[in-house]
Amino acid sequence: MIKAIFFDLDDTLLWDQKSVKEAFVATCKVAEERYGINAEQLEEAVREAARELYSSYDFYSFTQMIGINPFEGLWGNFADENLEDFRKMKETVPSYRKDAWTAGLKKMGIDNLELGQELAERFPLERRKSPFVYEETFDTLNQLKGNYQLLLLTNGSPELQNTKLEITPELVPYFDQIVISGDFGRGKPDPSIFEHALSLMGLQKDEVIMVGDNLMTDVLGANRAGIKTVWINRHDKERNEVIPTYEIKHLEELFSILEEIKEK
Ligand SMILES: [Mg+2]
Repeated sequence: MIKAIFFDLDDTLLWDQKSVKEAFVATCKVAEERYGINAEQLEEAVREAARELYSSYDFYSFTQMIGINPFEGLWGNFADENLEDFRKMKETVPSYRKDAWTAGLKKMGIDNLELGQELAERFPLERRKSPFVYEETFDTLNQLKGNYQLLLLTNGSPELQNTKLEITPELVPYFDQIVISGDFGRGKPDPSIFEHALSLMGLQKDEVIMVGDNLMTDVLGANRAGIKTVWINRHDKERNEVIPTYEIKHLEELFSILEEIKEK
C-alpha cells in the first residue's frame, strides 16, 4: 500500500527549463537592443560557453554528484557552508558568470568585458523574476494532500533550491518533508538519499512511489533503492536502459496509477 509520494522539484513540479529560458531571453535582449546582435544566437553561445567553463572547474564532479547544472551556476550564490566544495563554488561563480557571458559575446563578435559583467549580473535578477509551475501542479498536490504523505526530494544547493521555493511559496506547505541533496551530502541517483527520505518518513520502500522527470537521477536512484517509480515524460523523450515502473505525460495521470496499485 502506498502511503507517501516522493516528488522531484525541477521540471516535475516547477518548470525550471522555462524559467531559465525566459531569463536568457530577457538578458540577451539587452545586448540585442544595444548592439543589434541576434539574442537567440547569443543565448546559444553563452549556454555553450557556460557548459564548457563549468566542466573545467575542479568542483565539477561535486556538482554532478549533488546535481547542480551549469545554468544554476549562472544565478546561484552557493552560500551553503556545510561542504567545502560549496565554499569553492561561492568563490568561483562571480568570475564564472562574467567569463561565460563575455565568452558568449565574443563568439558573437563583441569584445566587451563591461557588457559581459553587466549581463552576468542581470541574468540572476531575471531568473528570480521568472518562476513557473506547471498548470497541473497545484491541482495534483491539492488532490493528493490529506490522502498521502508528501516528500520533496530535490538535487541541488540548499541555498538555491530554497530560493526557488521562496519565489514560489505556495509549494512548501504541501510537503511533510523536504530533502535537498546538498544538505544530505549525496544526490540522486545515490540510493542512500532515498533511504534517508524513507527513514525521515518512517516508511518502507514498498510504501512509497517516486515521481520525477529524470531517468538518470529520479528513476535510476529509486530503482536502486527498490522504490516504485513514475517517470513524467512531458516532451516525448526516448527511454534508455533505465526502466520506470510507470510512465506518464501529465501529472494527473498519477491518480489512475495510484488507484491501480490500491486494487492490486
Ligand atoms: Mg527534475
